[in-house]
Amino acid sequence: MRTTIDEILERDNFSREDIIILLSTTDEEEQSKIFNHAYLTKEKHIGKKVWLRGLIEYSNYCRKNCYYCGIGNRNKNVKRYIIPDNEVFEAVDFAYKNNYGSIVIQSGERNDNIFIDQINYLLKEIKKRTNNELGITLSCGEQTIETYQKWFESGAHRYLLRIETSDKKLYKKIHPQNNLHKYDNRLDALINLQKVGYQTGTGVMIGLPFQTIENLADDLLFFKSMDIDMVGMGPYIEHKETHLYKHKDLLEDKTIRFNLTLKMIAILRILMNDINIASTTALQAINDIGREKALKAGANIIMPNITPAKYKENYLIYDNKPCISENANQCTNCLNLRIKSIGEEIQYSHWGDSKHYAKRN
Ligand code: SAH
Repeated sequence: MRTTIDEILERDNFSREDIIILLSTTDEEEQSKIFNHAYLTKEKHIGKKVWLRGLIEYSNYCRKNCYYCGIGNRNKNVKRYIIPDNEVFEAVDFAYKNNYGSIVIQSGERNDNIFIDQINYLLKEIKKRTNNELGITLSCGEQTIETYQKWFESGAHRYLLRIETSDKKLYKKIHPQNNLHKYDNRLDALINLQKVGYQTGTGVMIGLPFQTIENLADDLLFFKSMDIDMVGMGPYIEHKETHLYKHKDLLEDKTIRFNLTLKMIAILRILMNDINIASTTALQAINDIGREKALKAGANIIMPNITPAKYKENYLIYDNKPCISENANQCTNCLNLRIKSIGEEIQYSHWGDSKHYAKRN
């Protein structure tokens, strides 16, 4: 087995079978080999560098009811909020003054005109207030191509829309069966984002009930075939007040989901060496130094949560979300130290665009 892993890692371009073998190993030494190989690839193509995206969880109103997500609209125990403009701008000013370079505006899914215009207004205002210097990524779900175009013209230049799983059958199992939750619509939305000209990101959850190693290998090949610019993927973490919770007995142990996520990141880095890969918060929910480990396995983006503390506790997409009582200042200081401790350097005041996107164009 050991020689097999070595042989595969020499290839750099993996077949589906290769990926399955890499994902399947639980041997510590073999896993380290995969992580080290991915880190060398990152060093070569990207450097020992990390870019920041200050994450603003703008609103938890959502018209969907995804079976895994704690803020789905059927969860009546969630206190719904929209962050008032002045508080959004305070968070933006914080990111700007601390030289974050970029922010992400994420939200539950809505497609009414009030929401579309509100996001549009925020984009224009943020660009004005920061002299066009702050990069903006949106993560506001499926919208029409017209809406994507409008937001693009108002200043958003990156968009994150996770496909959640590239397997149509699994997609059906983790979503209600109605027009709001169609795999084909989500895929079309992703293609429309590329058409409009966004740096386009997607991703999946890892360790879902019913998910197989083969599904995950196909997810990686999906990113590649879509020629995606950025990926954010994290472990699935169950939430008590969701439909999927009843299948919790099917789940692998959290540490297994964690290691599987690190392997997914590492293999992706080797497969697509110049894309942006996020080290997601869900990793930290399982392992206190989870995000640092992901940087060491090939990730190059961190999204410090700069949502005002009083709203954070209402954006609990999964249980045990970390740092929900900390303010943005505390998060920044903590992160600085953490990243330095692993010999990586934060690239302040840079948008940190995907190199892959630049080459693709
Ligand atoms: N409404 C936006 C943003 C969704 S929240 C959109 O649809 O794109 C961001 C991500 O959180 C989701 O895409 C999903 O992958 C992840 N997420 C939701 N519930 C989760 C859970 N229980 N465990 C881990 N990740 C989860």
